Amino acid sequence: MHIEQGPIRPPSEASSLLIRITRNCPWNRCVFCSTYKGKQFSRRSVDDIKRDIDTLARVVEQVLQIAWHEGRGGRVNSQAVSEAGSRYGHLHYHVAQWMYYGAKNVFLQDANSLILKTNDLVQIIKYLRSVLPSVERLTTYARADTASRKSGEELRELREAGLVRIHMGMESGSDIVLKMIQKGTTAKQLVEAGRKIGAAGISLCWYIMPGLGGKKYSREHALETAAVINRGNPDYIRFRTLSVLKNTPLYEMMQNGEFAPLDEDEVIREQRLLLESLEGVNTTVVSDHILNLLQELEGTLPADRDKLLSIIDR
Ligand code: SF4
Repeated sequence: MHIEQGPIRPPSEASSLLIRITRNCPWNRCVFCSTYKGKQFSRRSVDDIKRDIDTLARVVEQVLQIAWHEGRGGRVNSQAVSEAGSRYGHLHYHVAQWMYYGAKNVFLQDANSLILKTNDLVQIIKYLRSVLPSVERLTTYARADTASRKSGEELRELREAGLVRIHMGMESGSDIVLKMIQKGTTAKQLVEAGRKIGAAGISLCWYIMPGLGGKKYSREHALETAAVINRGNPDYIRFRTLSVLKNTPLYEMMQNGEFAPLDEDEVIREQRLLLESLEGVNTTVVSDHILNLLQELEGTLPADRDKLLSIIDR
């Protein structure tokens, strides 16, 4: 048995079932990103996705059989997870692990699921929930330009169907930096997308990239990113400190002197400037990535503002 799955998901979706509804990234031009380079974007048909969902339902049955036959009362425990994997392979291991964690969360891949027609997306989500009724919450990645083009009504329909969170690579709120990294989005689109998503009752998580402005635009990057967060008021911001990967255009820019990266102290100062410039937001700050220098930089604003700044000052 086989279903299609994409290469990545957010760290916070580690216990989610992964279902691929589009392939790769329709933009694919950000200069720091190598995830989908050289890979063509395509939409999967609704029928194809439904076939994958049917396959998943059969895998769920097989995992349950393992759980029953091993005398575990149908409960998927860690032994059932490893046995499902060794008996049938990775897909069964993944599904069994999802069941071990309660079989509630699903993450829709790849980079920009909202690019599908809203009706198709709603149809996919409804089918999924009818075939796998334990599913309670669905989350996905989306680009700001695409999300800002959805109407409030469309986003509300998606929320009602079960889409509870959108993970969005904001990277920066500075138009200069967004242009330099060829993000293909603007501060205006970010704010519009953020407000529409919030108004529809969908939780929004923005990924911020400390260091992305380099030495030249560090201050602009911090201040404008804070300004967009202040206006978009996302539920979460997650730090993903820049790491310049060798097989990216940003690496070439660095080699030929067009981009000068920050040193570690400068990255931390930039994060302080960003955090101290946040005002009037109700946002949880998360630092759950190995590339971040201060992983303990976590808390909820406005209550934890002083705590976050004192972590940086220390
Ligand atoms: S939109 Fe996301 S996935 Fe696509 S190129 Fe940019 S960072 Fe990579």
